[in-house]
Amino acid sequence: MKAHHGMYIGGEWRLAAGADTIEVVNPVDEQVIGRVPAGTSADVGHAVRAARAALPGWAATPPTERAAKLAALRDVLVARKDEIAETVTAELGSPLPFSQAVHAGVPILVAGSYAELAATYAFEEKVGNSTVYHEPVGVVGAITPWNYPLHQIVAKVAPALAAGCTVVLKPAEDTPLTAQLFAEAVAEADLPAGVFNLVTGLGPVAGQALAEHPDVDLVSFTGSTAVGRRIGATAGAAVKRVALELGGKSANVILPSADLAKAVNVGVANVMSNSGQTCSAWTRMLVHTSQYEEAVGLAAAAATKYGDRIGPVVSAKQRSRVRSYIEKGIAEGARLVVGGPESPREQGYFISPTVFADVTPDMTIAQEEIFGPVLSIIRYEDEEEAVRIANGTVYGLAGAVWAAEEAEAVAFARRLDTGQVDINGGRFNPLAPFGGYKQSGVGRELGSHGLTEYLQTKSFQF
Ligand code: NAP
Ligand code: MG
Repeated sequence: MKAHHGMYIGGEWRLAAGADTIEVVNPVDEQVIGRVPAGTSADVGHAVRAARAALPGWAATPPTERAAKLAALRDVLVARKDEIAETVTAELGSPLPFSQAVHAGVPILVAGSYAELAATYAFEEKVGNSTVYHEPVGVVGAITPWNYPLHQIVAKVAPALAAGCTVVLKPAEDTPLTAQLFAEAVAEADLPAGVFNLVTGLGPVAGQALAEHPDVDLVSFTGSTAVGRRIGATAGAAVKRVALELGGKSANVILPSADLAKAVNVGVANVMSNSGQTCSAWTRMLVHTSQYEEAVGLAAAAATKYGDRIGPVVSAKQRSRVRSYIEKGIAEGARLVVGGPESPREQGYFISPTVFADVTPDMTIAQEEIFGPVLSIIRYEDEEEAVRIANGTVYGLAGAVWAAEEAEAVAFARRLDTGQVDINGGRFNPLAPFGGYKQSGVGRELGSHGLTEYLQTKSFQF
């Protein structure tokens, strides 16, 4: 994937208003692999105007035709899946097999699911003596992070387009090449000009201009709590719709009846995958006191096996954040079992898979999102305490429960204040609503619940 000098606005690659660029760095070898334009509020203005101009036509396009365009987009993503995987690997650093299976595979599934939903969703319904129309909210400003670069884009853009909205995307500065590749796919799928627009740039410049733009009707943001809070406040002041996906500190609760080895191994794999840069990762493992040391031993062995197989984290900044959390864990008295703050390699933003035992619920590493390959194992005495610990953070995005019988795990999971729970390992479902309780966010993505975020109702009474 060769970087574009321009931005995709109104159906063409046009030069940015300013001359500043952003360097794209490969986190494995720290080499600059490309440069993209650093957009400003002028570029955001052009893009929002293009999206506004395209809105009436796209909103009036029959849903089955919108569905056909989304299916065409999905087909382009399928045709270019190797290039997608290579591009994500180049700018995020994730190992190629993971990029192929997840970073390319999941967005294809999600784009396909919205092609189908656009064709089958009831955009019009009868309620007694009324007809209710589900209409697009309007122009969407989408702001996405780097951790699942294409998935985060598709999880916003596909439902927005299915709903009849038009979009301006500001992707993460660390992974703009994947976003440019997506824009190429939109062009190749022959979507009407202005329906999707891309402005690369820095968060506090281009991102903020997009979130504040008066002609944006809905802001959909995924990223840090600090930025999400500001975007929520800006949107609130403008009485604008907002969706926030802000990360988590999810609990993996292993009940005493569970298959301990399986629960621990799957739990460690969940935390280490994507080098721990997953908002829904089960970064707190809760184990009954009777099985605690056995679980710690199993987790240490599993994490050691990951050793060399995980990729780096995305940037030097992210590596230093993760390291300082590891140092904090040690300073606050947790027991370092595997890993640590030292770099395992001379070059690249690598962090060793790290496991802490004797973590207490009030420690920083048990409360804050680390976003690196770091697992905290916490002890509980009884089920009541396990519920209290699991629910004892400001977050509530995901989680896992393990027990011998599904019914036991389900009964426990019903008591968790969280948006998603995997029962005995679960399986990814691209149609299941994804989003947070508490400070993990506002709104849901994926499936029909993700589609309704981009719709508003109008009712006629007869
Ligand atoms: P971030 O700054 O919140 O980045 C998310 C997106 O928001 C990026 O596109 C970013 O642009 C943009 N942005 C930044 N400041 C903005 C502003 N003032 N107005 C509008 N948009 C703005 O997150 P980060 O710095 O990349 O990561 C920091 C931490 O956030 C991580 O360590 C992790 O804990 C959390 N995080 C969570 C998720 C998640 O999936 N929930 C994803 C990523 C990060 P830039 O790329 O230019 O900054
Ligand atoms: Mg940032």
